Amino acid sequence: MEIFYQLSMIDPNYILIGLIVSFFAMEMAFSYPFKFGYKLNHLFHNFLFQLIAISMGSLLGFMMITTFDWIDSNEFGLFYLITVPFWFKILAGILLIDMSDYWFHQIDHKIPVLWRLHRVHHSDTSVDASTALRFFPTELIYFTSGELLISVIFGLDIISMNIFLFLLLPILFIQHSNLRYPVWIDNILGWLIVTPNIHKVHHEQDQFYTDSNYGTLFIIWDRLFGTFKTKPVKEIKYGLREFEENKKQSFLYLIRSPFINIQRIKDDKI
Ligand SMILES: [Zn+2]
Ligand SMILES: [Zn+2]
Repeated sequence: MEIFYQLSMIDPNYILIGLIVSFFAMEMAFSYPFKFGYKLNHLFHNFLFQLIAISMGSLLGFMMITTFDWIDSNEFGLFYLITVPFWFKILAGILLIDMSDYWFHQIDHKIPVLWRLHRVHHSDTSVDASTALRFFPTELIYFTSGELLISVIFGLDIISMNIFLFLLLPILFIQHSNLRYPVWIDNILGWLIVTPNIHKVHHEQDQFYTDSNYGTLFIIWDRLFGTFKTKPVKEIKYGLREFEENKKQSFLYLIRSPFINIQRIKDDKI
């Protein structure tokens, strides 16, 4: 646990910059399976979302510290009613936080007003590592609220949350990156974690696939609850039809888009 404590002390902005630079360089060198121009412009527009996220850091930190302090001082939650080893509580906590993200993500797709916010992430027609940054700002509060709710119900420890958050950013970059990953990653790790090829199916335009693979870190929830689907990466068409025009890929359009009535265009309407 000490190692995670030490790592959690690193300023996350340094990790962020390191991830952006290294993935940008790798994608420029190996871009696969899609080549697309304007890569720097694409990164710029997605990065503007991250600037808002950084400015919300203290609010999210306050929400987390207040909640875990409250759980701790009141000894509230199911794990305070039973005796389990500490390592089990930490591990179960990471899984439960991930399960909360799975359900909140699925609800994001089902409720129209939430979809307006979440479709900003799905609007990207050129999915690459920078897509990991393209989230409407309220989504951070939405997912954090779910994670804190499940933490209160089970009486989780803040260490579970710290480990989850520490893993989250690099995994989001890997999942969205425009790089070739060997097949064995899907064949073996694909039973446990959300591999890049599994998450990319979630970015397919066809809603049959968009409404699948909701998992964040672990794929077990999709496999357990019947939302797991596969499609070869080479055949995936990214984004949403209603966001295909170039002007609809700009930060300024996307930040306004939840307040614009945009009909979802499905295959059968073409
Ligand atoms: Zn989604
Ligand atoms: Zn995604």
